[in-house]
Amino acid sequence: MTARTPDPWMMDRPTTLSLLADLLRGRTLVVLTGAGCSTESGIPDYRGAGKHERTPMPIRFQEFVRSRGARRRYWARSAVGWPRMSGATPNPGHRALARLERAGLLRGVITQNVDGLHQAAGSRRVVELHGSLSRVLCLECGAFEPRAEVQDRLAALNPGRVREPGRVELRPDGDAELRPDGDADLGGEDPSDFLLPGCRRCGGVLKPDVVFFGENVPRPTVQEAWRLFEEGEVLLVAGSSLTVYSGYRFVRRAADERTPVAIVNVGETRGDPLASLRVEGRTGAVLPELADALLGAGGRDRLSA
Ligand SMILES: [Zn+2]
Repeated sequence: MTARTPDPWMMDRPTTLSLLADLLRGRTLVVLTGAGCSTESGIPDYRGAGKHERTPMPIRFQEFVRSRGARRRYWARSAVGWPRMSGATPNPGHRALARLERAGLLRGVITQNVDGLHQAAGSRRVVELHGSLSRVLCLECGAFEPRAEVQDRLAALNPGRVREPGRVELRPDGDAELRPDGDADLGGEDPSDFLLPGCRRCGGVLKPDVVFFGENVPRPTVQEAWRLFEEGEVLLVAGSSLTVYSGYRFVRRAADERTPVAIVNVGETRGDPLASLRVEGRTGAVLPELADALLGAGGRDRLSA
């Protein structure tokens, strides 16, 4: 029998928490969040702790644009994953950040997540670096439409695969495995006869309004993120391994400008050598205690408890 490795956060929690609170206290805070912030809401992480090598690579932008087959595969998976993605709810980590913002300590959240859970938790200023799964974009005319409406059309076009309204199932045996971008692993299922809706305005190709691999973060989004970043006196990274440059660059800039960086994450991150403080732990456990330490537990509203 092997002894379970103790959670490092549990081992030295009082010390680590007070160090973290001391670093953040009295400073205007900006937070950068990644997939680790949403794993406790049931949304998996491509790169976080415990992931297997065999996790399939997400679709690349060029492939999506060039290949109708790739788009079929994407939308077939996405149609399956959407009900669970849209049903995900914020966890205590999201709610703690919203609470810090309401209290005026946190200026805003820059997130790599596309799940909308920060807004659902009550965060008001959120820069979504990688877009949002809640919107769909027409690549021809630029029109947006809510993902939920596209889901209805996907379901209507593929009726043999619908068991309940808005729910598309390609696997006979329960839920396919949900993936971080909101799509699902279909196993051996062949989606070659899956029908795709076009843009309602022009019939053009529809793409979720998220940044695929091989695609750049839109310039206005980057500028908005930098504006928010500059308002912070300390950068808190929560639940990101900082593997992707779109997030890592904020840590680099902070280090260049001598802005302190604190990192809360499970597992090592690319930003560790640049951080003033690193806390090994789940955001859903650490952030609520941090908010209590900074605001006092009395500031916690009942719904967030
Ligand atoms: Zn269009």
